[in-house]
Amino acid sequence: MQRLGALAIFVVGCGSPAVPRLDLGEPPSEWFEPAAESFQLAQLAHGPTQRFLAQRGGTWELDFDPVLATPRSMRGSGIAFCAAGSSEAELETAALAFVREHADLFGTAELVSAGAVVERELSTISLAQRHRGVPVIAGHLGLTISRGRLVLVQGTTYPIHELVTTPQIGLARAVAAVRAVLAPAHAGDRDAGRLVILPERGPGSIRYHLAWEVTAWRGPDQAVVYVDAHGGSVLSGYDAHRYDYAGRATNHVDERTVGDAVVPLPASHLRLHSSRGTATSDGDGAFKFSGTAGPLIVSANLHGAYVDVQNLDGPNATFIGMMRPESAYALEWTEARSTPEERDVFRGATVTNRYVAPVFPGLTWLDRPILAKVNHKRTCNAYWNGSSINFFAAGNGCNNTGRIFDVVAHEWGHGFDANAPGAAIDGALGEFIGDLISFVQTHSPLLGPGFFTDGKPVRDLEDPNYQCYDPKKREVHAAGHLLGAVVWDIFLDLERAGVTGDRLKRLMLFPIAIAQTRAGWYSAMLAVDDDDGNLVNGTPNECLIYNQFKAHSCAGARWPGIPDRDPPQCVNRAP
Ligand SMILES: [Zn+2]
Repeated sequence: MQRLGALAIFVVGCGSPAVPRLDLGEPPSEWFEPAAESFQLAQLAHGPTQRFLAQRGGTWELDFDPVLATPRSMRGSGIAFCAAGSSEAELETAALAFVREHADLFGTAELVSAGAVVERELSTISLAQRHRGVPVIAGHLGLTISRGRLVLVQGTTYPIHELVTTPQIGLARAVAAVRAVLAPAHAGDRDAGRLVILPERGPGSIRYHLAWEVTAWRGPDQAVVYVDAHGGSVLSGYDAHRYDYAGRATNHVDERTVGDAVVPLPASHLRLHSSRGTATSDGDGAFKFSGTAGPLIVSANLHGAYVDVQNLDGPNATFIGMMRPESAYALEWTEARSTPEERDVFRGATVTNRYVAPVFPGLTWLDRPILAKVNHKRTCNAYWNGSSINFFAAGNGCNNTGRIFDVVAHEWGHGFDANAPGAAIDGALGEFIGDLISFVQTHSPLLGPGFFTDGKPVRDLEDPNYQCYDPKKREVHAAGHLLGAVVWDIFLDLERAGVTGDRLKRLMLFPIAIAQTRAGWYSAMLAVDDDDGNLVNGTPNECLIYNQFKAHSCAGARWPGIPDRDPPQCVNRAP
């Protein structure tokens, strides 16, 4: 057998030349290229733009992508768009009709709905681009309707011509090409694929590939790899897990992390089981079963209305107790029947869901429990993988990542972002959203104190290295950190200006449903702030928001998405 084994290895080694392993890069993120003023003026004078302005009227601020020559932002005095109280279907019909009407402007008429948030005063609909039915990666357009008026259109639409959309190679060959460049597959691994159009951007250039997008699971790893559907070559790939922290170490002590005082909080929205059916505790942790006769055996795991916690290193948290009708029953999750990380993840995910949900009452993803897995046998990280949030055990100088509220909120934020309107186009925006979901709750510029045993946080939104917009910072957490620094300062300024409570929460969180890239965040905030269906005449906090984006444009590059000049209503109010 030994000899046979050796022989087999020898034969394989000879017969198939070593294929280099694919170097998995970062997830995709926004490609924003500054455009010269002369280019913008030429685009404004262009037929489709002129026709839009003549036909729709009003005042519009347009910003065109310098390579695609399609608008990436249109912010205006508003177009009467739909009646108050329109349904999502009506809004979708109106949005698609609008895009078809201006197909020459957007370079395509082929868009499909990718989610919407519909409210009386402010609605947003996200559209995804197709080309002859094939999804175009990152091709998207978002329409924002304030008080029945279309005030903001943001996105990236690709004018694709002359691309053959019939693949020359099949999915099976694409999967084989991917297998050749990834770690060997083992039992339980799988691969799945779909045909897409992959725009490949470089400075001043754009190329389109018809590609097979293959998602490959290898044990705990997940890769997305693009294979040219005409030539069969591997184009690019990325690690699809949203890992969040790189290894160092900590043991900070405060209320939200390891070493803090253990505070008793309600186990709210927890599911319980009994022979009389199931019950769910309320926001204060209270629960009841119907019936009065005799004792009742009750059991529960750390499963609830908003999160199901799974322990990968030992039995799941389990509670079994006896309720008697004549006495009030106290169910307490303690060390006896659960681990701290299970309890902390249950609380972190539940509290975060309940915090965010009032801003998005129509989003059904918020009504379902998210799957959370604790104690992966790895250290110093946590991730979202498209269907669950995952936390690593303690070790190598890191605490158990499930025990840090900020980390739970951040990973939950990835899940929310993936299920809010739109798609994951800008990895850096996704990292920012995770941090945002955390800092609006903790009210702290530090993200993840207690992650490492040396007491330092994972990120600090007041870190001087992240205060000026820097297009060279491309790593997704670093690029997201830049926007976090701006929005953290806006958060503080808004509070100082008296914007608090639900209004502040909405102003901070609703842009998630509007902006698809970092460049879209500024206008998205204005749309949420708007009070009259017009984005050109100023919004209540426009200057405050603008001034922070301007203040953070301090290294020679202006923040993508902000106007080239101070808005007229802010000229005399610049800091
Ligand atoms: Zn993240």
